Amino acid sequence: MKFAVFLYHPEPAEGFDINFYRIKPESGTVGKPTPHMYTNIACFGDNQKASEHPEWIAVSKDGPATRLNKKYNFRWDILCMTNPELVEETLNFIEENARVSPGISLSSMHFADHGFCICPRCMDLWRKSGLSWTEWRAQVVTDFVKKARDRVGSKPLFINILPDPVLGKERFGYNYDEIANYADAFVVPMFSRSYITSWYFETLARAFKRILKKPVFVNLYVYGPGENPQTVPTVEQILTVSCRIARTGVDGIIYLAENAWRIRDFQRAAVQNKKLLEELEGSGGEEVVERVRVWESLF
Ligand SMILES: [Zn+2]
Repeated sequence: MKFAVFLYHPEPAEGFDINFYRIKPESGTVGKPTPHMYTNIACFGDNQKASEHPEWIAVSKDGPATRLNKKYNFRWDILCMTNPELVEETLNFIEENARVSPGISLSSMHFADHGFCICPRCMDLWRKSGLSWTEWRAQVVTDFVKKARDRVGSKPLFINILPDPVLGKERFGYNYDEIANYADAFVVPMFSRSYITSWYFETLARAFKRILKKPVFVNLYVYGPGENPQTVPTVEQILTVSCRIARTGVDGIIYLAENAWRIRDFQRAAVQNKKLLEELEGSGGEEVVERVRVWESLF
């Protein structure tokens, strides 16, 4: 089992197999690639471009894919993914990063949610395709991942998918089997400010491990930008949910934090929590406990 981090700054954290740098999160800010970290790119979730090109925002009968749309509760603004100018720009950016970075991770490479996108271009493309609405959308998403694969070349390509194992195709256009032909691994974000009820996260991890035909990584929330100690999960919750997820047989766990020193604080707190580590022995998540023991040497 692998352990990784998902960071908003280009300084790697110690004690992990993979460091992901969020070079372009959904806020739309863009950093510079580093050879020391894998690059994560949010493709069509992009607040910056949405404000520069409001005409690029995906649309539905229940309004646009923006943070203000209460029917959907989007965490960021989402652009229509059939815009050829945007697609080419995004693929070029992926290629530029793949030249420097040891691997690429793509987020937000799908339709906003069910009901998107019904802009005139999407409706025209769908009608011309002769496919059902669901199949056409899935084909658009798979086609984008295939093109991204070509740009990434032989370096590892991680595909981040939203955590809906049942309706992922209808909602986001995920054809899991098709995407698996082009991805080296899937990442399932399960971000939460509390993991107090770990049962649900374990259930989701178990379902995805069964469905997905490539290695599965689960991404957990440690300490994102703009948080304070009262708004993030406790170290006990993170370690417990990590063990519950590990025992489902997933291939890796990723920890999201603003930067490497937030991760270091988490590692220190984990190492110091001897009582909890003892309790977690025998839970089936031993690889998590073993990794925490390895971190002891960092302090
Ligand atoms: Zn559209």
